[in-house]
This record gives sequence, C-alpha cells and structure tokens, in this order.
Amino acid sequence: MSSINPFENALAQLSRATAIKSFPAEFLAQLEAPNREVHVSIPVKMDDGTLRVFHGYRVEYNNARGPYKGGIRYHQDTDISEVKALAFWMALKCAVANIPMGGGKGGITLDPKPLSKGELEHLSRGYMRSLVDIFGPEKDVPAPDVNTTPEMMDWMNDEFGKITGDTRGAVITGKPVDKGGSEGRGPATGLGGFYVFDALREKAGLPEKVTVAIQGMGNVGGNAAEIFAQHGHTVVALSDSKGGIYKADGLSYKEVEEYKKQNGTLAGFPGATVVTQEELLALPVDVLIPAALENQITEKNANDIKAKFILELANGPTTTAADDILFGRGIHVVPDILANSGGVTVSTYEWEQNMKGERWTEEDVFAKLKEAMNRESTAIFDTSVEHKTDMRRAAFIVALERIAKAMGY
Ligand code: NAD
Repeated sequence: MSSINPFENALAQLSRATAIKSFPAEFLAQLEAPNREVHVSIPVKMDDGTLRVFHGYRVEYNNARGPYKGGIRYHQDTDISEVKALAFWMALKCAVANIPMGGGKGGITLDPKPLSKGELEHLSRGYMRSLVDIFGPEKDVPAPDVNTTPEMMDWMNDEFGKITGDTRGAVITGKPVDKGGSEGRGPATGLGGFYVFDALREKAGLPEKVTVAIQGMGNVGGNAAEIFAQHGHTVVALSDSKGGIYKADGLSYKEVEEYKKQNGTLAGFPGATVVTQEELLALPVDVLIPAALENQITEKNANDIKAKFILELANGPTTTAADDILFGRGIHVVPDILANSGGVTVSTYEWEQNMKGERWTEEDVFAKLKEAMNRESTAIFDTSVEHKTDMRRAAFIVALERIAKAMGY
C-alpha cells in the first residue's frame, strides 16, 4: 500500500463535501473520530508448536442509525489508520444504502496465505473471543472483507454462540448459506456494483455495451467480471496482487481463474498480454473497476486514465488529489460508498433474516438489492448535478444528511 494515510484521506473527503453543503459544527466534530477503537492481542499456537501473537483491531465509528456494521480484513498492511478509515466509510455507506446500520470495521495485521486452515481457525476464533463483549446482533455486526471468507465467519459465529448462548447467527454476516448465510451474499458486492453501473450508464453517456478493466479478482472483482460478461459487456483486463493480463476481445473470468489455479499466476494465459497494475489502470476502456486495495489512483496516474467511468468496488482506491484531476477531465467516478454498498445491503438482509428466523429466496434478495441500488444511485447522481460536484461529494452529502437526522441535528 502507498504511504498515503487512508484516514487522513477520509477526513479530507469529509471536509471537501462539507465545503459544498454546510452541517452543524457540533455534528461534524462528532464525526472526526470514532466512538471507540479497540486493540487486541491474539495468541495462536501454530502447527509447529510455537506461539505467535497477532495484533487485531475493531473500530466502532458511529451507530446513530443502527448497530455498527463492517467487515474484518486480514492483511499484512492493515493498521489502525486503515481500519479507522474503513469504519468511517462504512458509517457513510450504510447511510447511502439507507440500511438501519452504523459503521465499524475490523482487521488483523497478517499475511494469511502461509497459515494452515487450522491456524486460521484458531486465529479467527481468538479474534471473536477477545472482542465477544463488544460484538452482538444489536451492538456490532462484522462480516468478511479482504482475505476473510464465509468459513471464517462461520467459525466466529460458532465461537460467539458457544460463549454467549446466542445462536441466532445474527452477530455476523457473510456466513455460508447452509450455516445461516443469505442467498445471494457471495456475489452481492459485484452485483450491486453492476446495478449501480446499469442505473447510471445512460446518464454518464456510456454506450449500451462497454469494455471493462478490473483490478483485483477476489470475491468482488471476480464476481463483477462474471456479471458484466453475463450482461454482454467485454472484460478485457483482470489482475491479482502479482500483476494483470489484457486481451482486447475479452477474457472469461472462469477460464482465467482456472488458469491461475493451475499455474499460480495469470502470466502466460493464452492470447493475453501481461500488464502491470499501472498499465491496467491506464487501458483504453469505457469502465475501470478498482476492486483490490486503497490508494491505487493518485495524482501520479490520474492523468493517464482513459476510462470514462470508474466504478470503485474497492474501498478508498482514489485519493482526493486524483478526484480533482478526474472531475476536471469529466470522468465519472462512482464512489466506493455507493458502488460497493451492495455487499453491506445484502449483509443487512442476512442479519434481518437471522433476527426474524426467515429465509428469503435469491430472487427476492436480488430484486430488493436492484431496487435499492437504482434508487440510491439516481438520488446521488441528481445530488451531484444539483451541487455541480462529483458523485463522491454528493454521496457524502446524502449520507451526512441521513446521519445528522438520526443524531437529532
Ligand atoms: P479478496 O481478498 O477476495 O480479493 C482481493 C483481490 O485483490 C485479490 O484478487 C488479490 O490478488 C488482489 N490484490 C491484492 N493486492 C493487490 C494489488 N496490490 N494490486 C492488485 N490486486 C491486488 O477481497 P474482496 O472481498 O474481493 O475485496 C476487494 C475490495 O473490495 C476491498 O477494497 C474491500 O474492502 C472491498 N469490498 C469488499 C466487499 C465484500 O463484500 N467482500 C464489500 C465492499 C467492499
């Protein structure tokens, strides 16, 4: 990750939005720091018998609109500043999506790749154990994020149930479907992003069928690749943490994934050219989808971008300096807090089903998601036109109005 501090970036975004529409100073003062941040040490007995102590975090940013909500990230670069920024964005995102949740986020500083399944289970259960007092269906409801999976959510849910006796499953979302998860949660972030794109495509002057480059092909980027292709769009580039590939007449995500499984890399995929992350971001496409990590689009490369539309499925991929360059160049940037809000929206449907003991069909979940994404995308686009500003500032304004109302301002 670059040296840009994500929390400073988040606060800069806040002051840029409030320069366009003013809010009471007392209200804003309460948004400048989280309600609570918790640091924990998690000892794990490794397979070779040694003990390693991992450092974890939970940030509870704002709960004016409902329980804190936000994923848990396992990454070697995760630190408190990143988790604070992500928690802040979650508070705004839940308000943008108009779901009854506040904002939180969690993380553990580690590269999970070398750990065995057993070690990951001990770590995930240990994380839940050390934070069991602050988590709860009515208090703080985590979910998956980078490098965390439905299986890990199941371990944490099980641990919570064993300690507290609350086995409703509503303490955590993103669980496997046969363990209380919601139908449709897996693809929800990518699908929600697609619905946002679809709602804005004409307004943004894009053609009916578009070319797409996607940075990151995990849960979010991989599902987005499949969904865009299913709707007749052409995904010409994909990447992972090692680099990317480009093929002008289109890539099949399934084939690329299979190739990566067998070869451990994307390089050498038949008919495709190898591209660096920087080259991928600058490809001549209609739509660019950052779906990996923060600070990918900065003032250093914003002028190289040729896409007309950037759909931020990752959290925090664009710095404020880059925002100004892109806005000046007439490039539509759909901000993370709108573009990837499909994930937390379906997470909230999962929580609601667990709380009520219901099970909804995938059809119902997708129909509700589509309706919500259409409605909020249109509201934010219209707000950006009204205030003659970019969609990020417009989304902040919409979110801040909703949070302020919940806090009695
Ligand atoms: P993931 O762990 O499933 O996938 C991450 C992908 O990014 C992998 O393909 C990885 O190889 C790639 N990657 C890592 N470092 C990279 C780098 N430096 N350059 C390019 N690619 C790199 O994670 P995910 O759940 O798909 O999350 C991706 C992004 O979407 C994150 O910013 C996350 O916060 C955001 N997000 C996720 C969800 C969700 O529901 N999972 C919801 C909202 C937002």
